[in-house]
Amino acid sequence: MRVARAIRIGCDRTRRQLPPARQAVVECAAVVSKAELNLKKFACLGFLLLLIYAPAIAQVTVIKAGRLVDPDNGTVLTDQVIVIRANKIEAVGPGLTIPQNAAVIDLSKMTVLPGLIDCHTHLADGKYGEGDPIFQLKKSASQSVLESVPNARVMLESGFTTVRDVGVYRALNDVALRDAINRGDIIGPRMYVAGAYITITGGAGAMTGMAPDIQLPWDFHYGEANSPWEVRQKVRLLVHQGVDHIKVLSTGAVLTHGSNPKSVEFTPDELQAAVDEASHFGLRVAAHAHAAEGIKNAIRAGVASVEHATLIDDEGIALAKQHGTYLVMDIYDDECIQADSKNGSMPADFLEHDRELGGIQRENFRKAVKAGVKLAFGTDAGVCAYGTSARQFAFMVKYEMTPMQAIQSATSAAADLIGRSNEFGSIKPGKDADLVAVSGDPLKDVSLLENVQFVMKAGVVYKHK
Ligand SMILES: [Zn+2]
Repeated sequence: MRVARAIRIGCDRTRRQLPPARQAVVECAAVVSKAELNLKKFACLGFLLLLIYAPAIAQVTVIKAGRLVDPDNGTVLTDQVIVIRANKIEAVGPGLTIPQNAAVIDLSKMTVLPGLIDCHTHLADGKYGEGDPIFQLKKSASQSVLESVPNARVMLESGFTTVRDVGVYRALNDVALRDAINRGDIIGPRMYVAGAYITITGGAGAMTGMAPDIQLPWDFHYGEANSPWEVRQKVRLLVHQGVDHIKVLSTGAVLTHGSNPKSVEFTPDELQAAVDEASHFGLRVAAHAHAAEGIKNAIRAGVASVEHATLIDDEGIALAKQHGTYLVMDIYDDECIQADSKNGSMPADFLEHDRELGGIQRENFRKAVKAGVKLAFGTDAGVCAYGTSARQFAFMVKYEMTPMQAIQSATSAAADLIGRSNEFGSIKPGKDADLVAVSGDPLKDVSLLENVQFVMKAGVVYKHK
């Protein structure tokens, strides 16, 4: 049973690396999985083992890139050869010698970019489009996380090889999804996860809207904290569960019942406790904040990023610049909130919270770009459908960024925010082989990134149209 499963997994991996063998592999896997022992089965086993071990012997892939975007230098190189050994980039340059036995992928008519990074996603909340978070209570944690499997796949196939996931309704579902991807059980981007929202009772990250006598399961209020010491305790619990960063809610939220995005929630002391405690374990803090005062409280506390930053004022922009704080402004998703208002799937109080905020956030994004604040790409994926994050690029360009700046926000800048610039974010020797490619020139038309035709994560091809 275990051998048959291993062969099937082997087939699956091989199928992605050797598209011409695809049909034969599928047929063989079907034969091998049958109970009867016969000659055809042995022949197929031999064929499969050859295919499985062939990449281990060769392990070298060469990509011919017609154009190659280098976000580190803000330049585009032409006619580059990228040599990939196993999961890492070994060499990049013009006219490099192609090693013997290398598998060659010809992208000479395409533009190759580093794998894209979305710094604000919620992949582990289950199926997209259920509107009111209260529907989460109709499912078990297992159902929610299993419903999230397609979210991860579509995210990767749309060109996002890494995500920074910043909170989940049911605590630790994101850890489960991340670990399943890392084991190779399911397909998805490299995930960095928060584990839970650290929030005040009844605040932006709480599950609200129930009658007061309803007792929630533990995982719906795992991150609730109401003093600096309670915040520290939650950080310690989450660190113990293996999270990658901490998410705090500094102000109210749009998509939470009984919460006001214009109100401050955590106090400066509580935010400082989160940043200080997280730093003991080498973790960074992302702070959700709409209200201007909550944004400034978070920046002064030393968070790595402010999420949304909707109502940021001039003082907040100056502070972000001074502290080197990233803003992650999800300026596209108001399109989806407004569309949901028309089809009736968005609760009325959420729409009231959202009124006018979308337009203000976009104008403040423009101000932040002009001021030279650090900006990382993040979409709040889950508000809009999974797999559509790249639609935000055109909005970023519409609101003052150059196409190169928009690409940098989702590659080199995003990797810097996550603290992994030495591992991904650009196509350089020693980094993970995370690459995407598009037809045409995304520096002339950044919306081409909405239709990525080639995706490689850690040296494995997941899409090649
Ligand atoms: Zn969010």
